[in-house]
This record gives sequence, structure tokens and C-alpha cells, in this order.
Amino acid sequence: MINKLEELRAKALSELDSIKDPKSLEAWRISYLGRKSELTQMLRGLASLPVEERRAAGAAANQLKSFLEQSLSQREEAIKEAEIARAIEKGKLDVTLPGYPTTLGRLHPTIQILRQMCDIFVAMGFEVVEGPEVEWDYYNFEALNIPQDHPARDMWATMWMDYRNEKGERNMLLRTHTSPMQIRVMENRQPPVRVIVPGKVYRYEATDATHEAMFYQVEGFAVDKNITMADLKGTLFEFARRLFGKERKARFRCDYFPFVEPGVDMAIDCFVCKGAGCSLCSNSGWIEILGAGMIHPEVLRRVNYDPDIYTGFAFGMGVERMSMLKYGIDDIRLFYSNDLRFLKQF
Ligand SMILES: [Zn+2]
Repeated sequence: MINKLEELRAKALSELDSIKDPKSLEAWRISYLGRKSELTQMLRGLASLPVEERRAAGAAANQLKSFLEQSLSQREEAIKEAEIARAIEKGKLDVTLPGYPTTLGRLHPTIQILRQMCDIFVAMGFEVVEGPEVEWDYYNFEALNIPQDHPARDMWATMWMDYRNEKGERNMLLRTHTSPMQIRVMENRQPPVRVIVPGKVYRYEATDATHEAMFYQVEGFAVDKNITMADLKGTLFEFARRLFGKERKARFRCDYFPFVEPGVDMAIDCFVCKGAGCSLCSNSGWIEILGAGMIHPEVLRRVNYDPDIYTGFAFGMGVERMSMLKYGIDDIRLFYSNDLRFLKQF
């Protein structure tokens, strides 16, 4: 068997020396190192040899195998180098050309603005908390002062989960706003609390330039003794100045949300026309950016905060809307249509 291995080695090497292309090299590999090659068969046949022969034959066969493998990879390298040399000679390969630049990923514009928004509130002493996107009716509506059959439920086109409780009611949904986390946080903590909740929310809505079925919100709230509307105003005006420029003016107007009393919508003076009127602000000079208000006493009572001792404010805003305003984007669908021409601008 040792002799046979020697013959095999000589034959394999002389064939290998004449190989000049990768295809023949692969054929050589199959015939000398493949599953059906003579060497592999020999290695398999070792078990049938007498014990005294087996040892020496096994060692020699394995040594030949690794020798052939090594020769193969050396030959492979040599063929590659020869190919490159030929290409350079023919002028087909210009090694002085710059390489392909590595393309770097970047943060999605929504995430970029979301981080800016969070940074602003964190600097004002708010803590960032996240919550579940699949929510119970109780947290999304009931505890926020929106009982079953309350007409205010129509304000949030809801995507319900295909699930019913033991009473046969659908009570699990994709959260329509980040407000459920107000309740979840307050249930587990005592005032003072100052929290913002960034995250995805879902609406059962046909999409158009200003509506998406999924978008981001940032919810914020603070509860303590002696918190007043002035604190709400101060916090949100400062936020608007830091995000949209320090010369921004802001305006509160009455609005209705079931979980606040009183409720307001906040607008900033248009930073394009400075209040003179343009297409961005629909010629009004003002741009609405968020809804807010003082947390309704019923909501506080529900989480066992005494509304005679504690008061608080809450606000919520769409993240894409902030981004659209800040960068002059006119269609919310651009954010999630995965068009690199759009995404690469940020
Ligand atoms: Zn304007």
C-alpha cells in the first residue's frame, strides 16, 4: 500500500504542475481528493488491513492527503496570480484605479428626529420609557377616560386583534397612541413623575400624503404637586424653540381630548414665512404641532393619585410631522416606501 501511495503522489503532482486554469484544478481536486478518489477509498479500506500494517499505512495515507491539499491551494494561488499578471500585461486591469467605496448605512430620518426630540426632553429632566405596541382596550381607551361607546373613540380608527375575552368582547388592539403608557407608568410609580414615551402607533386608515397606518409618536407627561398650565406652556415652548429655532413664537388654543381638562392644541409661528402666510402654514402664519392639556382628574383617580394633591400635564405629537415640518417633506408615505433617493438625503 505504501508503494501505491508513492505512485499516487507522483502522478498527482505531475498532473497538478501542468494545470493552468481553475476548471481543470477543480477536476484534479475531485479525482485525487474527492469522495470517490483512490486515496479516499484507501483511507476507507484501512480498517480491513492487518493491525501491524494499518498504522503505518494510515499515517502515510493521511500525510499524502494533507500534502495534496496543500499543493492544491498553492497551485490555486499561483493560477490567480498568473491571471492578474496577464490582465495587467494586457492593460485590462488598472491597479491604480480607486476601489469601490464602502456604502455606509445611516439612521432613518424618523429615528434621527426622534432622537433629537428625546434629547431635548431628557435635558429638561424627563425620563424615556417604552411600552407595548399590542395593548388592552383598558389602557388604550378606558383608563384614559374613553369608555365603551364613547363617541371620542371615533377619533382613533383602531386596528383590533383577532381575539375575544371570556365575555366575547374584542379587547386587544394595536395601540392608537402612546398615551396608554401614561397609565402603565402611573400605576407603578408615585409622583413626582416626568416621563416621555416614544414609539410606534397604528391606525386603521387609508394612507395619503398626511396619513399612514403606522407612524411614531412621542407622548410626555409630568405629575407632581403644584404643576400648572404654566409648566406645560414653559416646557412645550422651550421644546419648540430647541427643535425649530430659538426665535419661534408659540400659541395655545382650546382643543378637546378626553383625558385632559383643559385641552389645547399648540402651534408655532411659521418658520418659512415668519407668520406672513405661505403654503406650509396654509396662509395662516401658524403651524399646529401637538395636542396637550392638564391630565383629567378622573385619569389621576384611576391610578390612585389624589387629584386634590397632585396635578399634571400631558402632551402628544407625531414624530413624522415634526420631521416633515423641519425638512419641508410634503408626503408622509415617503418615510416608509424605502426609496433610497429619499432616505439618502438625511
Ligand atoms: Zn408660512
